[in-house]
Amino acid sequence: MIKRITLVLAVALSFTACKKDDNKETVLLFSPEQDKQLGAQLKAEIFANPNEYPVLDEAKYPFAYEYIRGLKDSILNTGKIGYKDEFAWEVYIIQDDSVLNAFASPGGYIFFYTGLIKYLDNEDDLMGVMGHEIAHADRRHSVKQMQRQYGISLLLNIVLGKEPGQLSQILAGVAGNTAGLAFSRDAESEADAYSVEYLSQTPYRCDGAKTFFEKLSAAGGSTVPKFLSTHPPAADRVVEIENKAIELGCDTTYYSPSSYQTFKNSLP
Ligand SMILES: [Zn+2]
Repeated sequence: MIKRITLVLAVALSFTACKKDDNKETVLLFSPEQDKQLGAQLKAEIFANPNEYPVLDEAKYPFAYEYIRGLKDSILNTGKIGYKDEFAWEVYIIQDDSVLNAFASPGGYIFFYTGLIKYLDNEDDLMGVMGHEIAHADRRHSVKQMQRQYGISLLLNIVLGKEPGQLSQILAGVAGNTAGLAFSRDAESEADAYSVEYLSQTPYRCDGAKTFFEKLSAAGGSTVPKFLSTHPPAADRVVEIENKAIELGCDTTYYSPSSYQTFKNSLP
């Protein structure tokens, strides 16, 4: 009888584990080194498609690149990044003023659209998004989602270059152009919370991630980009970010260095 109860309990527990489809429950079989390999492939795919992803030329815009990579480094140097030394942590700018977006590929390849950089008024706001994207990579949200969606064997084949068609599909999901790889609500909330935590160790306002949503809402909010339009709703995210800042007791006043305008002006 005791055996039977144990068995029933075990089944009940595993059912609960299966039902819980959030990030923390996924056992990741993909290794961090494979994150980096996949990210490098996605980066190559981006650079191979300049019509869709017009990456700003580093040779022509060295100041802009040095500037935005400096912002990235200030977050990497907070001591809060788990894969600081393992991941690539490369930042690129995509030249398209009509896109209010940024995205992170596995292994720390982060892309910012000029549209987003120009839309934001303060460096603190951009740092909020930077923290959010770094968190997606460092917390390995994309690969967790991919492993759930494609399974580990297909994912490994993709890394080995055996599934070239899937690579572009994955990229479209990562870049936020399709609903194919929407992050879970938990992943978005977690990335927001980590952004607050990272920024709490910098001179920037720690809740910088919320100002983007506030500006969008103030403007009517109908043009919320894909990567934000799903869940949680923008208003909920603002509240969650504010609550995290209260929990940490971190500074929410603007740092707002004037050099942000110089950076924006340096873009084409
Ligand atoms: Zn996100």
